[in-house]
Amino acid sequence: MLKKSANSAAWAMMANMPTRLKAEVAIKMLLAGSDETKRREIMHSVSERRRLTVPRDEIPWHPSIDQLACKRCKICLNFCPKGVYSEDSDGSIVVTHPHECVMLCTGCEGRCPEGAISFPDRKDFYKYVYYV
Ligand code: SF4
Ligand code: SF4
Repeated sequence: MLKKSANSAAWAMMANMPTRLKAEVAIKMLLAGSDETKRREIMHSVSERRRLTVPRDEIPWHPSIDQLACKRCKICLNFCPKGVYSEDSDGSIVVTHPHECVMLCTGCEGRCPEGAISFPDRKDFYKYVYYV
């Protein structure tokens, strides 16, 4: 599941890169082979080149939690490095900082054992991202 998430994130990232950058990344990925750490490092360095076409708080990209499915295990809360999730006073896990969510990241989605996390359709968000 984790590998699938990483690959789909890489694919989404590459889909809206200029051709020269896409070729550069493809070669680096080829050289990295199946080394997942190297592949992640490559995608991280590319993400530094990402720019948004409008301010982040105008872009509705963030996770949603199905509260009926959520078992409050806090895996998502502990995993997200951006502090998108918080624990409410009643113990429920909520999205309190939606605009801290990294554009096109879905890293937490595949980690939820209950399948309670969802994101909007990526294809509607490519227009908000370009690479330099
Ligand atoms: S990982 Fe899933 S089940 Fe666990 S707290 Fe987050 S949304 Fe709920
Ligand atoms: S997609 Fe990434 S940045 Fe967004 S909430 Fe999940 S782990 Fe955090």
